[in-house]
Amino acid sequence: MATNRTFTMVKPDAVEANNTGSILGMITEAGFKIVAMKYTKLSAEQAGAFYEVHKERPFYGELVEFMSRGPIVAAILEKDNAVEDFRKLIGATNPAQAEDGTIRKRFAKSIGENAVHGSDSDENAAIEGNFFFSGLERF
Ligand code: ATP
Ligand code: MG
Repeated sequence: MATNRTFTMVKPDAVEANNTGSILGMITEAGFKIVAMKYTKLSAEQAGAFYEVHKERPFYGELVEFMSRGPIVAAILEKDNAVEDFRKLIGATNPAQAEDGTIRKRFAKSIGENAVHGSDSDENAAIEGNFFFSGLERF
């Protein structure tokens, strides 16, 4: 059912660098419609829960600290083939490997501080959207 929706966050590094507007511009220019959006800040506990799948990875502590250090913008996006197309738009996790024209190529500083999040499957897009938004906050 959620094949045309994905979930994103503008991460703390990009919000701090005042790149929120430019990133949202690239997202809407690429044909994604914003169906839910909020400016908020994750606690360490919430960031840890959101990235729980990476709990055993060596970078988990660093990731939780980074994702909770400042405000983020969370959004649900709608487009045909949303999950796959959005992963293409954001580019590789490591900006050194991200293709030209991608959000991470343009705005990410490092593999850890990489400007944006994008869901990796329809199932996770639904879980992640539900993590941030109630039914009353989607239009
Ligand atoms: P995201 O889930 O945020 O969209 P991703 O799917 O491209 O990113 P994941 O493998 O899910 O990459 O990793 C989640 C996040 O953990 C990365 O975006 C990055 O912020 C951080 N991360 C991943 N690998 C490393 C690493 N080797 N060192 C430091 N941080 C890392
Ligand atoms: Mg991921």
